[in-house]
Parts: sequence; structure tokens; C-alpha cells
Amino acid sequence: MRFGIGDAVVDVIADIDRFALPAGFLPDCDLEALLPHRDLLEPDHVDFAGGTFLLGVQALLLRVAGLVVLVDTCVGENKSRPNHPAWHERSATGFLERLAAAGVAPEAVDVVFCTHLHADHVGWNTRLLNGRWVPTFPRARYLIGKRELAQWMGRAQQDPGVNHGSHADSLLPVLEAGLVETVEDGYELAPGVTLVPLPGHTKGQMGLRLERNGARAIFCGDAIHTPVQVLRPEWSSRVCADPLAAAATRRELLECAAEDGTLLVPAHFRNCGCARVRREGGGFLLVFGPG
Ligand SMILES: [Zn+2]
Repeated sequence: MRFGIGDAVVDVIADIDRFALPAGFLPDCDLEALLPHRDLLEPDHVDFAGGTFLLGVQALLLRVAGLVVLVDTCVGENKSRPNHPAWHERSATGFLERLAAAGVAPEAVDVVFCTHLHADHVGWNTRLLNGRWVPTFPRARYLIGKRELAQWMGRAQQDPGVNHGSHADSLLPVLEAGLVETVEDGYELAPGVTLVPLPGHTKGQMGLRLERNGARAIFCGDAIHTPVQVLRPEWSSRVCADPLAAAATRRELLECAAEDGTLLVPAHFRNCGCARVRREGGGFLLVFGPG
């Protein structure tokens, strides 16, 4: 899937497509309450009969202002994730081939931006070469929020296996290679390309706000996991560090998007990878695709 935002071009590069999560992933969720939206949500985003949410795990390849930017790097290959069978010791996934089909070799990536440091957002930061984890994108600057990095470095002192082991195999190697640049709220990557705070899912999650030629978008990571959360913004996930803050961040995102037409580009929307929202009564409705 490819779409444009002003003069910027975005390709959705899937790592895992059709990742099913039980409805309990959103602990407050009542699937029956979503039945009026069944036509919108099935078959791509909710399996009502199976009681699951359907997500993609995908990187967003952004070409803007002469830069090749990869937003979030998914699960990756050869990573030991015994508590997550769909993520465990994957091989021959075709991810880098799909990146190549979009016209980008690993050496051509200028910037990797991880919205946050969960295992499904950092996996392709590294790959296994001769038994060692090496940066997959050797020329890239890896941008990581200062608060986000500090938090997980602290957690890793107590538990080196934190984030399913991704801290050790997907973060430390790029830090040790000197490729990480820590960034603060408001960091401007290029004209009209700014990193902004989206706290709640993790304390230090950040998004990438794009404004080019009058078109607006926000790459918002896991501030919105599933289209279900556009319909019910108060339903935070069970893996959110601060569910109330996550819900407040989500509502603010949706209000802004409904107000000024900002395109939402979350990390896990299947197929089109993006949506626009509009107000409907006291809530929001969404229209998939760049529109
Ligand atoms: Zn995620």
C-alpha cells in the first residue's frame, strides 16, 4: 500500500499480517457494543465470531524532504520470544524483500524512528549476522525519545530480559554501534516533520507529525492500536503503562484529526494503514484510507 501526504510518500511494509489478539486485549471491550459497526470492522479488523481483533505489524516507510525514514521496525527475524509464539524465532519473513520492492535497500535508510520500545516496534533494528546482532540499517540515525530510552534502560537494570528480550537483542546493539540519537518533544527532523509526545501506552511514546504542502498526518504508533479505539477511545489496552493517560492522548489525537483533517497513521492498522476521522454525535467515526 502506498499513499501520499503533500509531497511525502508513504509505503506500508508489513512484517506480520493478520496478527490476532483476543478481545481481552482491550479489557473494557464489549464486542456486542460494536455490532452496529460490524460492516466497517469486518473482515479486516475484528473477527466477531472468533472474538479477536486483527492487527498488522508493519513499518511505515516515509520519503520526505530527501530523507528515507522508517517509522517502527516491527518484530524482526531470529528473535527468541518464547512467550509470544507468533514472534518467536521467525525466518524467511520477506520483510527486507518487501522493503526492496518499495525501492529501498537497508543501506538507503537515513532515519529509523521508533515511536516506543516495545518488542513489536524495534525488531528489525537489528539482524543476526554470523551469530551477532548487527544494525540492519547501518547508515541510519536511530531516533528514540529521551524519556522512553531512560525508562527502559532503568527497567533493564532490574530485568535484562525486559520487553520480551528486545531490549538486549534489538536496542543495545544499535546503542553500542553509536547509531542512536535521543530526541526530545518538538524535535524537527525536516521542515514540516516534527516529533511530538504521545504518552500513555508507554510513558515516553512519541509520534511523528507531518505537515507538507498543506496536507497533515500523524504517525501515532500505538496511541491507537485498532480502529475499535476510534469508535471507543476510552478502551485502552492491557499493555498500556497508564491506561487513563493513553485514553486522554487518544481522544486529543482524534479531536485534532476531526478538526483539521489530519490523517491518522497508526502502527497496526491493516491493509490501508491509515484513516481519517470525523465527529459523529459525541464520538468519532472513521473512513479508512488516505481519502
Ligand atoms: Zn505495537
